[in-house]
Amino acid sequence: MPNPVPIEITKSSPREITIRWDDGHLSVYAIHYLRAECMCARCVNEITGMRILDPRTIAEDLTIMNAEHVGRYGIKFTFSDKHDDGIYTWERLRALDKSLQGDPDKGAE
Ligand SMILES: [Zn+2]
Repeated sequence: MPNPVPIEITKSSPREITIRWDDGHLSVYAIHYLRAECMCARCVNEITGMRILDPRTIAEDLTIMNAEHVGRYGIKFTFSDKHDDGIYTWERLRALDKSLQGDPDKGAE
């Protein structure tokens, strides 16, 4: 079965992103959570995998200023703290959806 891809990505509130997937699932992410899970080289040490970013330093009222597709496989967000290095692949966004975690039928592989 092919990996699910988004058919609609909306900033459903200043603090939330909602993704509608082609398998019918709806994911709602807190923007603060997405920012905290950024996997770019400035947020995570590429060699050790250790998180450099301290989530406590992220503003509670953080929002997303812009979003652009990266190829066919993901999206890049520009957060209101000017951070735009992280690419969120569809696979990763599915894995970040807490409502899918622990469900062997729908969860990340
Ligand atoms: Zn980052």
